[in-house]
Order: sequence, then C-alpha cells, then structure tokens
Amino acid sequence: MRLVISGVSKEYPQGLTVKELLEAEKVATPEYVTVALNDALVDIGQFAATVLKDGDSVEFLYYMGGGALSEEELRRYSRNIILKEVGLKGQKRLAAGKVLVIGAGGLGSPALFYLAAAGVGVLGIADGDSVDLSNLQRQILHGAADVGKKKTRSAEESLRALNPQIRLRVHEGLARADNILDLIADYDFVIDGTDNFAAKFLINDACVLAGKPFSHAGIIRFTGQLLTYVPGRGPCYRCLFQNPPPPGAIPTCREAGVIGALAGTIGTLQAMEAMKYLMGIGELLTGALLTHDALNMDFRKIKVAARPGCAVCGERPTILEPRDYENPACEL
Ligand SMILES: [Zn+2]
Repeated sequence: MRLVISGVSKEYPQGLTVKELLEAEKVATPEYVTVALNDALVDIGQFAATVLKDGDSVEFLYYMGGGALSEEELRRYSRNIILKEVGLKGQKRLAAGKVLVIGAGGLGSPALFYLAAAGVGVLGIADGDSVDLSNLQRQILHGAADVGKKKTRSAEESLRALNPQIRLRVHEGLARADNILDLIADYDFVIDGTDNFAAKFLINDACVLAGKPFSHAGIIRFTGQLLTYVPGRGPCYRCLFQNPPPPGAIPTCREAGVIGALAGTIGTLQAMEAMKYLMGIGELLTGALLTHDALNMDFRKIKVAARPGCAVCGERPTILEPRDYENPACEL
C-alpha cells in the first residue's frame, strides 16, 4: 500500500501500525513524537492499535522542519496540540497572536499567566501603578518582594520566568484618550483588566473606534461579569452601560472589597476568550453578558443585543474619538 509520510509517497506492507511505522522510519525518541494521521492526532497510547490504510497521510510533528515549532515548543505546548480543536494549526495561531492586557492586577494576573503559558507570541502589559501590599491577596503576578516595584516590571519578570519563549512588551503608564489608539493599534485582541469606569469606557470606545475585539470584565465583592466585543457581532460595553456612573456612586473594590479567587475565575475566562478568538474556535461571549455570583456558584448568560442608539457603536455615533473621564482608580 502507498502511504504519504511527511509529504513523500512510500510503499509499505498492509497491516502496518503507527508504532511499526515509527520504527521503520527510524524516528528517534518516539515517546516525544506527535503523530498526525490525515489531519487527526493519534494519541501516543494508540500508536500500536492504529492500523494504517492505503492512501493514509502521516506527519511526525516532532520532526517537521521549516516554519514548524521547535522540539522545545512541541513539548511545552503538547497538551494544547493534542487537542483536536487546537492541533499544530491552533498552536501556530497562538504563536502568531498579539494580545494586549491593560491592567496587570487581579484580572490581568491570571489572564497574562495563562496567555503566556499557552504560547501567545506577543503579550503587551500596560499598567501605570506600583505593587502595594493590599494587591497581593489577588494579584498573583506579584510577590512580597515586588511591593513598591512597577507592576509592569514585576509582571514581566513573572511571565518571563514562566515562559521565556514569548515576546513581552511593556507599556508603562496609564491609558489615556491621547495614547490609547496607538497603544492598541498593533494588537489582535485586547483584555480590559482594569476596574475603574473611566478606563473601561476609554478602552471600550477606543476598541470600537479601531474595530478591535476585546474582553470586558468587572468584579466586586463576590460577583463578576464578562462580555466579549467583536465588531459587528453584538453589543459593546457602552450599549449596556451608556455612561460612567458619577464618581462615588458605585463603590470601588477598595471600598467594597473583592474576594481574591474571583479575580482568578474571571481573568482566566478572559484569557480563554482571547485564545478562542486567536485560534478561531468555539463560540465567543458576544451578544451576551455572563454574570457570576461566587457565593451561590451561579453563572448566568444574559442575552443582550447591540443598541442602535449607542453613542459609539450605534447607527449615528456621537463619540468619534476616545475621551477621558474623571474617576478614582480602584487599584484592581
Ligand atoms: Zn455600543
């Protein structure tokens, strides 16, 4: 029978298994090889049981040259790659992806950690604050020795220790109306990890104006919410909440408190949305607001449509450029 091995047609006897093929092809250290059979990945435990058929196409991912992932990358990301929804194609899309996380705090910590671990090629870290002792209860990028250090610097050190293979870009300072469009321009996806309304509206408006998908999230006490904006697919944050509340009207988490693991839950969901967007898999949280009550362990998806009268994404927008709002920061 004819098999196509790494793109080359070869003759092999009938009844050959993947395990025998690895031996016949003299594949070194077969315990580290990922085998793709006609676009599906064969689990290593199935090598001996998988019998090849005439016309089958086999790729040894460990050995693919030219533009493929390195051996180290294949091992590091193997738990991603063996998922059929991800595969080598999805991993390469993550490696080619650029995600900006605004706020290296409670939400940004898990989001940045998981995106770095997953191998997202370029991660932007934007923050203007320094690490405070009261941050450490939830902002797990930072440790006791980082108190007083710039959050961008501390985050960069933690992420580099986790995954030296990705590129990190540090944007020191607060996002403002006069710099946010430049800040987000080069990224594929933005994560809003801030917890002050001025920043949330600023990020929303800039992403809508620039046609940039982003993940909104907010947390307070034991509750959180999440929404993914993709141009043309459902509402933006301003569709739901038309204007920032007056300063002082809504307590900040400094005043009201926030339970640490909740930041982990919601920030991790933001990383999940970014990864799905980059890989083009699954259903994004567009057209619905996810609300989470950790005390009752309740998750609800509330369907919401874009509002035609929305001042930034509606039919007759009145917000044509980003604007700054006055608001106390929460130091999320
Ligand atoms: Zn809108």
